[in-house]
Amino acid sequence: MLKKEFKRKDVNRARNLLTGNSGASTGTQIGYKKETKDYKEGDVWTEGRKTWTIKNGIKQTVSKLDAIKKEVFMPLCCPNCGKVMKKRLDKPNYKIHKKCFDCVVEFEHKLKIRGEYDSYIKKLEAKNSLDIVDEMESYLLDAINTSNSSFVSEDGVIERWVGGVDKVELTKQVKEATKTRREHIEKKLNDKKRA
Ligand SMILES: [Zn+2]
Repeated sequence: MLKKEFKRKDVNRARNLLTGNSGASTGTQIGYKKETKDYKEGDVWTEGRKTWTIKNGIKQTVSKLDAIKKEVFMPLCCPNCGKVMKKRLDKPNYKIHKKCFDCVVEFEHKLKIRGEYDSYIKKLEAKNSLDIVDEMESYLLDAINTSNSSFVSEDGVIERWVGGVDKVELTKQVKEATKTRREHIEKKLNDKKRA
């Protein structure tokens, strides 16, 4: 069973991939710093006209967080079978498959019988990787367009953007890097399909 959880190490890995810093350590504790005030994970504060918070070490607006919450919001009943989703494994499975654990087990069992299970898992993994690239892209583009005096402190990636930021050039670079990643993931998926 795959888990789709956007962990901090995934963020760091994706960030390192996009910046070509693939050898960098990804386990370090992250804090957000401003010249006059330090913010830590979970803090909520107002800056400019926006409300900000730190989630998974990333400074982001609260409205953006709300959108993420909406994405993982789970209804009371499984949309597939209508049963109440209250098992421990219902939640992680709903996040990925949009149905309850029992429905996922049944669905995967059918796939196994038809011999389609392996390609299904590969597709799911590729989708998960593409989701991370998508989230990274929007995070980076957002960081480019909101960074001025602020910086996210971790491996120095965002810090280097402070002062004299060429937003157009950086946006272009982020889009090119994410495009390359997407093509790479899709190519790998297609290669496996043929094999
Ligand atoms: Zn169900």
